[in-house]
Amino acid sequence: MTNTVPRRQLLKLLGMSILGTSFSSCITSPARATSVNWGYIGKAGPEHWGELSPEYQLCGLGRQQTPIDLQIADVKNVTNQDLLSVNYQPTALHLINNGKTIQVNYQAGSYLKFGQQQFELLQFHFHHISEHRLNGKSYDMELHLVHRSQNGNLAVMAVFLEAGKFNPTLQIIWDAMPQEKGVETRIKDINIDASQFLPAKHTFLAYSGSLTTPPCSENVLWCVMETPIEASTAQIVQFSQMFPVNARPLQQLNDRIVMEFI
Ligand SMILES: [Zn+2]
Repeated sequence: MTNTVPRRQLLKLLGMSILGTSFSSCITSPARATSVNWGYIGKAGPEHWGELSPEYQLCGLGRQQTPIDLQIADVKNVTNQDLLSVNYQPTALHLINNGKTIQVNYQAGSYLKFGQQQFELLQFHFHHISEHRLNGKSYDMELHLVHRSQNGNLAVMAVFLEAGKFNPTLQIIWDAMPQEKGVETRIKDINIDASQFLPAKHTFLAYSGSLTTPPCSENVLWCVMETPIEASTAQIVQFSQMFPVNARPLQQLNDRIVMEFI
């Protein structure tokens, strides 16, 4: 495989944030996003999301939907790793069980930079099992770190979790996991640092996708870490007992390009 940078595609990926629509409402107005009941099984499950509300149309009709199966053999290599930089600070632990996942809301001041674009970390949350696949392989869980730029565009960093060593940072969250839905809980005197969830090796795959929950808005920049991090089987089981299935099925790649940053 050549290392030719598909420059036009790269600019498209970077430029999409400038051209993209604002998605701030998806993230900042949970009331709107939960106005129509959706879930992961039965009549409100992913196959029906697009029919549940006019606002959810893209879930059924979108051509740039997430998640996808990332096939390394098909990607375009870009060797310029410097395009991505992450600057996460510890934050006071603010947790919410929104009924679909456990979400940690992040205080201002942590961000990632992709090219010239800066995206602030808003929150992170978990899926069981993984939503993306890597070369056809599912992982036990997937962490999504959700960021927004000043002009309202979204970038999500995804990190796979697989069964292995006990994860002390994850346990801080699990110990505080609220059973009650819809109430943000501030855990007194406990901080959390999202950078603890990044694998040591930062090779990642990038493509233009969507939110994986209704309204499935597109033009979301996805950066999926290739190296998983570990959590113990007991930790994975603990999450899965609260959320047996909260992963959207695979979507079509269509005419999108996936790029690998090594
Ligand atoms: Zn997610």
